[in-house]
Amino acid sequence: MKKKLIAGNWKMNGGLAANEALLKALRDGMAAIASPCDVAVAVPAPYLAQVQALVAGSGIALAAQDVSAHEQGAYTGEVSAAMLKEFGARYVLVGHSERRQYHGETDAVVAIKAQRALALGVTPIVCVGETLAERDAGETEAVVKRQLAAVIHLNGHCISEIVVAYEPVWAIGTGRTATPAQAQAVHAVLRAQLALASGHAERVHLLYGGSMNAANAAELLAQPDIDGGLVGGASLKAADFLQIMGAAS
Ligand code: 13P
Repeated sequence: MKKKLIAGNWKMNGGLAANEALLKALRDGMAAIASPCDVAVAVPAPYLAQVQALVAGSGIALAAQDVSAHEQGAYTGEVSAAMLKEFGARYVLVGHSERRQYHGETDAVVAIKAQRALALGVTPIVCVGETLAERDAGETEAVVKRQLAAVIHLNGHCISEIVVAYEPVWAIGTGRTATPAQAQAVHAVLRAQLALASGHAERVHLLYGGSMNAANAAELLAQPDIDGGLVGGASLKAADFLQIMGAAS
């Protein structure tokens, strides 16, 4: 059975001193977990080098929060997949709802970003999820299927090498979590969609994200198609993040 994956998304938080303290606490805490789940932290790009050094030998994988859709060249402000690779990034988030919402990222752009990451051997964590209006309109399944279909369409042959994170937009940073049954229902849809494209859909980690915390993690992670979590706010507090890891281990 595959290990669960708990990924922290620091978003635009952190600082040199805070990062060092947080990662030291995580390393110390993980030493007390007998067989830890897979763990990653997605950090702001300027901290990749610092965190690469701080997680060396710890079992914590390095992740980036975004990657350019372009390979290289005149794209001011962008960070390429090759650059992420050079700093040891194992994963990169693509299509986070905050990127879709504030930076106009379309399904097509998200699919290209996943392709750029895969080409360099960096695993894309493809984020999908519906808004509250879409859920209320009964469109949840159609929305997440459309978002995942774009990535499958462009990356079909290596689709079993991606990670998918289901993050209902209404649950992000709101303290309002999807119920385990709501999350499982969407995860089952995503698994079935992957299975149509690949004989290895069982291999794909399907993460739940949206106000996951120390209190609700165990119940969410007990669902058959929830293979881990993408954790925002609670990943910034060592004690909370360690408890979520404990629930997944
Ligand atoms: P919160 O855990 O803060 O709700 O954030 C979830 C998220 O967006 C992770 O990518």
